[in-house]
This record gives sequence, C-alpha cells and structure tokens, in this order.
Amino acid sequence: MNQGLTIPAECIVEAAAQVGTPFYVYDETEILARCQEILSMPHAFGFQPRYAMKANSGRAILQLITSAGINIDASSLNEARRAVACGVAPERIMLTTQEVPLGADREELEGLLSAGMHYNVCSIRQLALILPFAKEHDMPLSIRIHPGVGSGESASRNTGDNYSCFGVHLTNLEQALSMAKEAGVIFDAVHVHIGSGGDPEAWRENIDRELGFVMKWFPDVTKVSFGGGFKVGRMPGEKSADCMALGEYAASRIRDFYERTGRKLIVEVEPGTYLMANSGFLVTSVIDRKRTGEEGFDFIVTDGGMEVNTRPLLYGSRHPFYVLSHDGNVLSDEFTDFDTGKQECIVVGRCCESGDSQSLNEDGTIAPRMMVKPLVGDFVVIGGAGAYCSSMSPFNYNSHVQCPEMMYRSDSSLQLIRRRQTLAQICQNELGL
Ligand SMILES: *Cc1c(COP(=O)(O)O)cnc(C)c1O
Repeated sequence: MNQGLTIPAECIVEAAAQVGTPFYVYDETEILARCQEILSMPHAFGFQPRYAMKANSGRAILQLITSAGINIDASSLNEARRAVACGVAPERIMLTTQEVPLGADREELEGLLSAGMHYNVCSIRQLALILPFAKEHDMPLSIRIHPGVGSGESASRNTGDNYSCFGVHLTNLEQALSMAKEAGVIFDAVHVHIGSGGDPEAWRENIDRELGFVMKWFPDVTKVSFGGGFKVGRMPGEKSADCMALGEYAASRIRDFYERTGRKLIVEVEPGTYLMANSGFLVTSVIDRKRTGEEGFDFIVTDGGMEVNTRPLLYGSRHPFYVLSHDGNVLSDEFTDFDTGKQECIVVGRCCESGDSQSLNEDGTIAPRMMVKPLVGDFVVIGGAGAYCSSMSPFNYNSHVQCPEMMYRSDSSLQLIRRRQTLAQICQNELGL
C-alpha cells in the first residue's frame, strides 16, 4: 500500500489549471496495483473479489476496476443500475441492500435478477418478498447474516453489533431457513460484513464464526463472502491490513473445512476502501487566511471542505495534508521530515458551519495541524480521499456545485472523468410557487 503523494505536484497544478479547484484526482497506477494485490490473495478452492462500489461509484472507476477482473458489490438498486449502465454484466453484480424495492423498482430488480444479478437477502421481509420469484426462476439466494458482533473504526461504522441492523440476525436464522425450505429455494452463499475496523483478529474470528454457520445450517452453500473492511492507513504511522496474511488464514480455514466436510467453498471478499482510499486526492486552493487573536489560531480557508470530504466531520477521520505552492513545489508533506518552518494551522472550508474543517477530533472539536503556512493561491491537497469522499458528500450544501474529477493515467497523462456540475443543474428540478 503506497501512502503519500503518488501524483507529481506539477501534474496536480496542471490539472488545477485545466479544471479549477476543488477537484478530485485519482491515480490509475495505484488503483490497478491495489486490484492486483487483492486478486492475488491466497485461496484454497477459488476466489472472487467484489468492489464495494459505494466507496466511489464513478463510471471511469467502475470501468477500471471491473476490467481488472473484480466484480461488483452494489448497496442499492441505483448502484446496480449504474454498474450495468457502464457495461458491467448483471451476473457480475451482487445486490446487498437495506432497500426493499417495490413497484417499478421491483420490476427492475426482477429484470436484473433474471439477467443474472445475485441477490443477498438482508432481512426476513426481503426474503418473504423474493421467495416466490426465486422459486419460480429456480434461483438460489445468498443470505447476509448479522453475527451479533462487529468491528468498525468508530461506533458509527460498526456494522455487526446490536446497534446496527445489517443482515438477518442470528436469532432469526431458523425462521429464514424454514421459510426458504418451505418455498423450495436454497441458499448457495453466506455473507457476513462486520465493518472496517481492520483488526486482523476480528477478521479472523469472523471467518471462523461464519464457517461455523455454514457447517451448522447451510448444506447447499458453495460460496462464502467475508465482506469488506480491509483497513487502510491514511496517515503516517497508520497501518494497512495485510491482505496476504488474511488470505492465507482464510485459505487454511477453507482447507480445514474441506477436510471435515468434503465441501470446497469459494471465497469472496468486498473491499471498497482498500482499492480506493489512498488512490485519490482532493485538491483545494487557499482562498483566505485569518487569525483569531493573540491566543487564537492561524486559519487557512480553502475552497473545499466538508462538502467534498465529510469524513473528518462525520467520523473524526484524519487525512494527510500536502501544501503545494501555486507553481508546483511541495512545501509541506506529513510523510517527510523536511519540517522546516512548519507551524500550527487550522484548515477550514468555505461552508457556514463551524465543523467545516478537514481536521477534527472524534468529539467534533477542531484539531490544529503542523504544516508550512500556505499563501493565498497555494494548494492544500488532502490525501486518502479516494474512498467515501466523492461518493459520500453533502456537495450541494451552501449551493456549492459537485466538483470535477480527474484521472492521472498510467501513461502520466491527465484525463477529465467527471465535469463540474453547474448551478443550473442544482436547480433544474425546482418548481416555484
Ligand atoms: C461498505 C461495504 C463493504 C466495503 O467496506 P470497506 O470498508 O469500504 O471495505 C463491503 N461489503 C458491504 C456489504 C458493504 O456494505
């Protein structure tokens, strides 16, 4: 896993001249390297990764990752539609959603399922609604199990404990099994996604627990999904998951399962963060500088804050900062020690919201950071911004437009992959009185 600014500073400045700030820029080489890493995870009897596309759902990103050989984990019907719209075959998509598509959506769901999309049942109600269709089409189902425990980087990202409701809870499993049996529909896959805590011990325990479920309740299962949640270290000193070690462990447990049961299970994983987080950068311009008095702080006001990277505000997540001069010199980089002239600064955006900072503690207080103080016209680049930034932002807040996206291609060229939204597009569906 590469950390640090993998795109040359002069290319970032060139991209800024082309599309204006703020914008996201992604590193194709880095994305492809992460795909290769995941695809080469050790396995026993077969392995298929899926990209959790909610991490970053842009067309170019989906094309890149699916052409590399990774399938799709969609979290909503619209995500599945987007994947299909950019050429992904439905049989490469699994839908794992909290939604319960009805009406026209239900018709479309059935169309996609008939075309080969896989359905991961996440509740008793979803099961009841899909069983007649599955029976009629002789379609096996996958089931997401809520294991009763989870692992998230923070409480709001823990997807497996009693305060979250993803999947069919263990206590409802017998009911789900008898409903499927009665309908004559089988479960061919079991899925558990516990969150992105990145604790390898929690991940290993999850594998053991899940194989226990398969052994006890699922005689027809041929595929197990261990979900996503491979941790990525964004800041200096933070560690990323060791995918090879996790793969080795999973493979040994799958072989062990085979020795005990004679069943060869295929493994799936669903990384989102891992493929994208450190492959993307958010480029902002410094538009103002202020100081809050003798006892106060130096504030750096940029043209992109909470509306383009909400993670600090939402989770207290930390992202590395790079300060680039207007002409493309790296003035400050948290991964290197050339800290001459670094001082405490607070980087804020331009929204009328006191939490609009790119550096907050988990309790929501603003955290000053050490950097070379940029001038107006310099750039503040925010790293670790490839996942859950562009796709998870209140981008029209304060009527700011959704910002453009660039790809830094493997041949070192720059390519626009999303245009800047216009104000007219924000307002286009509004109706006056
Ligand atoms: C979000 C999600 C993932 C991906 O999680 P990451 O932390 O981005 O790896 C995988 N599977 C499911 C079902 C998810 O909802």
